[in-house]
Amino acid sequence: MLRPALFLALLGVCLLAAADGRDDLATQRHIEPAIDYRLFPDAGNAPDDPLVAAQLDGWHRLPPGRSANFGYREDVAWFRLDVPTLPEARQQILEIGYPQLDSVRIYLLRDDRVAGQLDSGDWQPMANRPLQHPHVLYPYTVDPDSRYRFLIRVQTSGALQVPITVWERDAFFDHISRIDQAHAVYYGILITVIFFNLFVFLAMREATYLYYALATFGYLFLMSTLRGITYPLLWPDNPWMQNHSMMLSVPLAMLFSLLFARAFLGLNQRSPVLDRLVRLAIIANLLAILGSFLLDYNASMRLSVALAIPSCLLLTGIGPLEWWRGNRPARLYTFAWGLLTLGSALTAANKYGWIPSNFLTDFGMEIGSALEALLLTVGLAARLYQEREEKVEARESQLRALEARRQAELRMMEQALHNPLTHLPNRSSFELLLQDLLTRESDRRHAVGIVQLGNLDTITRTLGHQNTDRVLELAAQRFNSVCRDLPGVYSVERDARHTFHAASLESATFGFIVDADTAQSQRRRIIECLEAIRAPLDYLGMQLPLEPVAGVAVSPDHGNDPNTLIRKAYVARESLEARERGLAYYHPRHDSYSADRLTLASSLREALKSDQLALYLQPKLDLRTRQVAGVEALIRWPGREPAVSADQIVAVAEQTGLIKPLTRWVLEQGLGIREALVRAGYPELSVSVNVSPNNLREQEFPLFVQRLLTSHPQHAGKLILEVTETSMMLDPANSLRALRSLHYTGIPLSIDDFGSGYSSLSYIKRLPAREIKIDRSLITDLSELPEDRVIVQTTINMCHDLGYAVVAEGVEDHATLDLLGEMGCDMVQGYVMTPPQPMKDFLAWMEDQAASEQRRA
Ligand code: C2E
Ligand code: CA
Ligand code: CA
Repeated sequence: MLRPALFLALLGVCLLAAADGRDDLATQRHIEPAIDYRLFPDAGNAPDDPLVAAQLDGWHRLPPGRSANFGYREDVAWFRLDVPTLPEARQQILEIGYPQLDSVRIYLLRDDRVAGQLDSGDWQPMANRPLQHPHVLYPYTVDPDSRYRFLIRVQTSGALQVPITVWERDAFFDHISRIDQAHAVYYGILITVIFFNLFVFLAMREATYLYYALATFGYLFLMSTLRGITYPLLWPDNPWMQNHSMMLSVPLAMLFSLLFARAFLGLNQRSPVLDRLVRLAIIANLLAILGSFLLDYNASMRLSVALAIPSCLLLTGIGPLEWWRGNRPARLYTFAWGLLTLGSALTAANKYGWIPSNFLTDFGMEIGSALEALLLTVGLAARLYQEREEKVEARESQLRALEARRQAELRMMEQALHNPLTHLPNRSSFELLLQDLLTRESDRRHAVGIVQLGNLDTITRTLGHQNTDRVLELAAQRFNSVCRDLPGVYSVERDARHTFHAASLESATFGFIVDADTAQSQRRRIIECLEAIRAPLDYLGMQLPLEPVAGVAVSPDHGNDPNTLIRKAYVARESLEARERGLAYYHPRHDSYSADRLTLASSLREALKSDQLALYLQPKLDLRTRQVAGVEALIRWPGREPAVSADQIVAVAEQTGLIKPLTRWVLEQGLGIREALVRAGYPELSVSVNVSPNNLREQEFPLFVQRLLTSHPQHAGKLILEVTETSMMLDPANSLRALRSLHYTGIPLSIDDFGSGYSSLSYIKRLPAREIKIDRSLITDLSELPEDRVIVQTTINMCHDLGYAVVAEGVEDHATLDLLGEMGCDMVQGYVMTPPQPMKDFLAWMEDQAASEQRRA
């Protein structure tokens, strides 16, 4: 900021110095006559008549080259000077170069007689003067044969400065034209500065610029008044105005400079003490302005000069002080104000005759204030630029912040609508799209598909979670690209970078939407896609089977809102059909989750309380003895409309916590059945009851069973608890602990549905079981499927090795029964004998059996 300012300042100095150099020629052409003076401290003693004055003694001679300057005194001063005689007639001008003198009377004596007279001074209107100029000018002509002498009487209430010069006429005009040029430059600069800053102020409404324009105007006014320029120019007929503007100009210049300095240096924020001083000085100068209207000229002049001194000192002092305190603009201020002070000091020193008169010293104040004006203008312009830069920067950073926020919002949106792991759109996006499609294209049929990976748990258990995450991500990519090829598929989301055709509904569940009619017409393509999905995933060189299972629900057949359609697709996926074939369409028969499931829970609670439930019995046949060895008790809800299966009852009970009272009820009923069987003459029959894995998780369950049996010791060893293999696998450690404590109380345990899950042999080996029941799914097609035969045979052998008895479930025909007998199976259960039936019917069936056996025997 300082550099351009300094450059301009130097330029200004050079320009003015150039003007100065030319002026030297002119100054050489004025005449320097010897000047005598006489002071009359008592004005009453001073003569009025020049001829009288001329006769007086006691004249003093001014040292050559010095002009008269007596400071502030109200003496009457008489000056006397002889015009050098010349060989030819000449036109000359006498100049009194100080415009503030109140009364100047010039007498030209020619050969000791008054030949001319001028009554002038700034209390006289300009019209009195022969030449309209701030200085008192007296033009005259000298003849070679006469002697010329000037007698000049001066009286003033200001500074008694009387610089007298005698000029050759041409030289004088040459001289003032130079000075006018210099003034034109000076006032031009100041006026430009004023208007520039005024415009900036109007554009920016920043008070500093206004103060600066005012301060510069203050200087312009002060200088022009001091130099007397305002007088002939603005109010030549009004000496009062001239004198009054003289009184006003100093406090006005001070006032505006103080206002400017305060704003420019930011004193009110940076320095409370200095600020208070500056405000005080402002008030003082305001008082001086007021005083100029109330006090007489002398008193007012003294007051404004008295106040100007501390104001000036303050204005000079705050610059370096603030600079020292680290205020940056203070550097420029100090510099600028320093130049003005220096210039003023030069002029003052010149006035007092301490330094020789030349352009630089004569016009030091002007040069100083012009440089100050330029410097500060450049400074302010730089500041303007900097402020604009700062504003632009602030605006830009605001924009950047806004952009960052927008990005963050986008990211949040993105996160809110995407699965963090697979990066696919999430359930919310999927539902949104589906809702949109259902409303927009309500005349079309939309198929909502979900695909669930069946093998993810196994992958996690084998490879750990991090690998599972990666596998999921790859699977998501695969699904997305396979779905893209589905006929009639809709994109779930489309942006510049991706198009998603699949969504992540849960971590291992994906969703897609296709136009049902298009898909139906291209079944082959659908099957190909399913095949592509089903292919194992190549991961770290392993071929991982994902075991995807799909369920599909179609609008409007299965529902009209996203919630229902997605739910029904899930239901279809859970179905046996889906598990077997990899894909199933929704069918109401799949839907154990139907709408009245919630009411089912409360009616089940009611049924349990009011003994509406019943246990049906299904016999277990010992293949060796061909005798019924025991019964399995299976839950039924007779009279319930619509009918509810045992699976459903158990599922609802498990979900609602009813399983705890239900199992207790079943156990008690089981003992009752046992009691009845004993009474009916079948003491050897065991009673098997099914226990839910939830029961195994209850802390006090084994204790409850133990108490129950302690109160019925006669049935010990004849009440068997069946626990499904898969249920134990969900929580192997706890199940094992519960089974062990049940085992220690002497209760025989049976592993149900063996072969339907994936339990490891090593785990089965540790179970404290007496019996293993091979799942119906392995038995159903036993006579047809050789593979199943291999599995069943291996299971039988293995279980025998471990000391377990083997029961085959779901035996529906005699061929299978015989086959199982050959394979060494211990017991069978199934429709081949009888479906589960109520106690009464079972007892009748037993009697029938006994009767037919007797008939055979
Ligand atoms: P489960 O323990 O495997 O019971 C055997 C199921 O096979 C019974 O179905 C029975 O009716 C059926 N079944 C028997 N022989 C044949 C056959 O030859 N062919 C066919 N297709 N099915 C046959 P149910 O009674 O519907 O019971 C289903 C499941 O509900 C049971 O499977 C058992 O896990 C559970 N369950 C039943 N009652 C209870 C209970 O009181 N408590 C608990 N926790 N679960 C029970
Ligand atoms: Ca069972
Ligand atoms: Ca079973």
